[in-house]
Amino acid sequence: MTKTDDARVIDALKADVAAATRILETEGILNYSGHMCTRVPGRDALIVQRRTDSRAELAPERMLIVDFNGVVIEGDGKPPSETAIHIEILRARPDINSVLHCHMDLAIAFTMMDDTQLVPMRARATRWQSGIPTHPDPSHIKLTEQGEELAKTLGPHYAALMRAHGMVVVAESPRAILSDAIHFKENAEALMQVLQAGKTPRPITEAEVKQILRFETRDHHIDKMWNYYVRKAIASGGVPAEWGVL
Ligand SMILES: [Zn+2]
Repeated sequence: MTKTDDARVIDALKADVAAATRILETEGILNYSGHMCTRVPGRDALIVQRRTDSRAELAPERMLIVDFNGVVIEGDGKPPSETAIHIEILRARPDINSVLHCHMDLAIAFTMMDDTQLVPMRARATRWQSGIPTHPDPSHIKLTEQGEELAKTLGPHYAALMRAHGMVVVAESPRAILSDAIHFKENAEALMQVLQAGKTPRPITEAEVKQILRFETRDHHIDKMWNYYVRKAIASGGVPAEWGVL
């Protein structure tokens, strides 16, 4: 039996989510917890990992498909306990297809400072020029209402911090999430370095953002980042070459 085009697209997305998750684990962006999802094209459903599968060892064939009621409609196992994050953000944001939620220390640190907002510092952080809001609820997001509240805090932006808990980054695809998450971390590191040097942060200005965006080629950059990190992961054995994600 040959697979339909739809099934092939879904298989490719499962492999992308598994590969991106393994790489984000290697990069210290997620660890024993944290997860990403991607929308099943044209359906109110998403691809997400099983709750207890190691982020360092995800496999495409173990991915679940979960509908927007939180019901597993393909695969065997429980989705992450915070799946409401993914469902409610995808529901609220038809312009994005992938969500990363993780508990990166550096992101959490910026929810614990009175006078300092995480803002774009580096040239590759223009994605977040509209702002990076902080969600006030520090608890795990397990209920639909909590997911809706988080989606409201995120609003039209492309990332949000979660008070004393973590962060979300949203993008058009799992490959874009990989690129954005790496730049999000680099940007947070840059701001932290300035603060640790005891200096006053000088974020990129609106005029500088305009200058940078003159030459922005987002799709090309996402491809370049994906190629670099996937090749590196294949060479080190972190991602099997036979997944065909290059
Ligand atoms: Zn969490």
